[in-house]
Amino acid sequence: MENKISTDVIIIGSGLAGCAAAYRAAAAGKKVLVLEKMPYYGGNSALAGGGYAASDSSLKYREKFGLEPDSWQLHAEDTFKAGGGIGDMALIETMAKGAPEGLNWLLSCGVTFTNALNQIGGHSVHRAYMADITGREIMDRVHAACERAGAAFRNNTRVTDFLLQDGRIAGVKAAASGQESCFAAKDGVILASGGFSRDTALRQKYCPALNEKYGCSNHKGATGELLTLAESFGADTVGMEYIQLYPCGDPKSGGIDTLGFHAYTGPGYGMIYVNQRGDRFVNELLGRDAVSDAQVQTCEKPTFAIFNQEIADILGLTADETERFTRGRRLYAADTLEGLAEAIHVPAEALCTAVARHNAFVAGEQADDFGKVRGTTLKALDKGPYYAVPQWPTVHFTMGGLRIDTSARVLDRRGQPIPGLYAAGECCGGIHGKNRLGGNALAECVVFGFIAGECR
Ligand SMILES: Cc1cc2nc3c(=O)[nH]c(=O)nc-3n(C[C@H](O)[C@H](O)[C@H](O)COP(=O)(O)OP(=O)(O)OC[C@H]3O[C@@H](n4cnc5c(N)ncnc54)[C@H](O)[C@@H]3O)c2cc1C
Repeated sequence: MENKISTDVIIIGSGLAGCAAAYRAAAAGKKVLVLEKMPYYGGNSALAGGGYAASDSSLKYREKFGLEPDSWQLHAEDTFKAGGGIGDMALIETMAKGAPEGLNWLLSCGVTFTNALNQIGGHSVHRAYMADITGREIMDRVHAACERAGAAFRNNTRVTDFLLQDGRIAGVKAAASGQESCFAAKDGVILASGGFSRDTALRQKYCPALNEKYGCSNHKGATGELLTLAESFGADTVGMEYIQLYPCGDPKSGGIDTLGFHAYTGPGYGMIYVNQRGDRFVNELLGRDAVSDAQVQTCEKPTFAIFNQEIADILGLTADETERFTRGRRLYAADTLEGLAEAIHVPAEALCTAVARHNAFVAGEQADDFGKVRGTTLKALDKGPYYAVPQWPTVHFTMGGLRIDTSARVLDRRGQPIPGLYAAGECCGGIHGKNRLGGNALAECVVFGFIAGECR
């Protein structure tokens, strides 16, 4: 072994969970080193659409827009329910309680949000703040705040092993440029290494159906080698078999672009999803699991998100984007519904009927065909231009991971904390149960990153 570096806290992974932990530890005066295997920092966090779920924030949008009341308890209830009732309520409550403080911290780092509070699938109220900058820009600002607080970062440094001393995880081994080094951590090692959606072998171990034919929205480094390593040190895992599909992936690449994010946020404003017969097939405001299942059951790839200019304006789809996406045949546009149906090759009569029936529901004239609850922000699709985005489920988020407690300590198979080892973010299981609600991942990262950053 060539090198030995000593510090107070080692954090593995430079995504949002790692950065929140780094910030908290560095701000408390600790010497912090973040190790990142990729040549870039930010992980999946730098791809995120910037949706953040919180029952409150210093922006006070709920009061500003006169929206229905919310509370951290209701946020926790929705999360538990969406997860099929198997999530760990203590962890869920910790996330829901801490989410507003986490959002305020992002604001203090310079992250900015759109002037709207959205209702997205599975949340019973408007609760999703949307950053108006990209995930990359969010992580640039958060990363800069961490460096200002004194945290140091090393990219291209892959953690390969833990150092065990007197029954405590006392550091890690990591490889950079073909050379292995030891990094000793006096106060703790924090795993913030993200999920394993890109690890086809590991995801198929738990979900055999999710083979390489499925697209994936994640960055290349979203692999699960550190989960396997932690297990070999006695760590317990939970919910590994629950892997989330995101309904609005690009059918060709499996990625999620601006349109994919809009297609997911849009149903709160009256956007509908139709199949290749031009029919609606699902309550678009259900959770991602239910919507993705319904899409797969159509057996017709792709399905389409349908909306109009009024909704495009609310979502912030610019004229430039509309032009660019239409040119690239990622978005289809027409002045009339009949024209749109022709462009996407679905029967015009069926599409017009689907839109008319949904408009009647929005106007309060009839119940929704799929049991949707009427919200105050729903708009009728009664005026063009109209748009269609092709979409198909893509492997997106791994709900399972390391079992932790509310102090972010990694637990062993007997439920005891493994001394010196902490974890935060998508590498952990237990919060989202069988299905994660949109905006809860970023909240989880900041809340548990902060808690892990207090390790000693
Ligand atoms: C396209 C997309 C959009 C999303 N949009 C949203 C959204 O709007 N709202 C929301 O709540 N959630 C969203 N999510 C989910 C959310 O972004 C992630 O769950 C979250 O960012 C994970 O953060 P993290 O810090 O736990 O992991 P990451 O941000 O993935 O960071 C983990 C880091 O650890 C590194 N690492 C892994 N193994 C090693 C190793 N052996 N050695 C060193 N480093 C290692 C990885 O390279 C990576 O950089 C989205 C996800 C994707 C993919």
